[in-house]
Amino acid sequence: NEHLEIIRKSLKTCPNFPKNGITFIDILGIFSDPTAHRALIDLILTRIRKFDTKIDAVVGLEARGFIFGPQIALELQVPFLPVRKHGKLPGKLVKVDYALEYGTDTIEMQVDILKSGTKILLVDDILATGGTLSAAQKLCAKLGYDVSETLVIIELLGLGGREKLANIDHFTTLFQYS
Ligand code: 5GP
Repeated sequence: NEHLEIIRKSLKTCPNFPKNGITFIDILGIFSDPTAHRALIDLILTRIRKFDTKIDAVVGLEARGFIFGPQIALELQVPFLPVRKHGKLPGKLVKVDYALEYGTDTIEMQVDILKSGTKILLVDDILATGGTLSAAQKLCAKLGYDVSETLVIIELLGLGGREKLANIDHFTTLFQYS
């Protein structure tokens, strides 16, 4: 697929970042190349059009899910809602704690924005261990939302990420890296 090839060229692998032994994939190069950026959005929209469920809203994870999530929502003409790290969102919130390599973290969403039963597409840039996305799925479920589809740009294989996700038959990734 031509779109996939254009996007792949703008991805950079960064050995030993943010610490020794970790290979970080930098996806931000997609957005510094308008051709790759357009290819990404078009490819995601093509995948969404193949879903059997009509998406009512897009939920994106801080921080890179905030870059392309709202663009997808705008194209679909549906609301975009953010999932943020603890302490960033005002108002009444729901929270989910999840395990990190050392310690825990908390993600939050505001309540009462969408109706219970709303069909959600959840987006983030990368699935690694799956801790973040599975916590976000739980967060949406706490609000009564139906996480119909979950989409990432890249799935890192061998970290057990997929196994942590709910509704795995409705998980989409554009690339897999091992
Ligand atoms: P997980 O919770 O699945 O272990 O990690 C996923 C989260 O960490 C995502 O929000 C993602 O942005 C970030 N992340 C993990 N590994 C990488 C990586 O190699 N590159 C980038 N850009 N983000 C990563």
